[in-house]
Amino acid sequence: MIRPSLTCECGCRMWLPYRKSQPAVSEPGWVPKEFLSREMACPECGRASAYGVRDVRWAEGAEIDPVTGGDEVSCWFVETVCNEQRCELPIGFHWLTGGHSGPEEIRFRTLRLFERGFFKSLLCGRGHPPGTRVPTVRRVG
Ligand SMILES: [Zn+2]
Ligand SMILES: [Zn+2]
Repeated sequence: MIRPSLTCECGCRMWLPYRKSQPAVSEPGWVPKEFLSREMACPECGRASAYGVRDVRWAEGAEIDPVTGGDEVSCWFVETVCNEQRCELPIGFHWLTGGHSGPEEIRFRTLRLFERGFFKSLLCGRGHPPGTRVPTVRRVG
């Protein structure tokens, strides 16, 4: 089935949530604007980039089971603060996972990635990299 996706500069294709958020719409006319409102971090290279409506590509992907939601995708808003003690401005981004991940798993996985310095281009408003405080996580789609 045809599904919306974004492509990172590294070539990684990131599928966007589709059926779950728009159950009645199935043609390439719907644009998932809510997922584009924040930088999206690539799971392959850790680069966080801002995407626009024109960056969304519709391509043949796995079928989404309407009952189980198998192969559906979830979009998470992950937020932490920078590592500068007297700054601590928020750093937030969107992160895509398989549909069956829960918030605890996302919090744990992204914390490990922060500790490894995985998200290289994520900075606070004053240009500091993220710290290693446990992030807050909220599902947006
Ligand atoms: Zn990438
Ligand atoms: Zn800062």
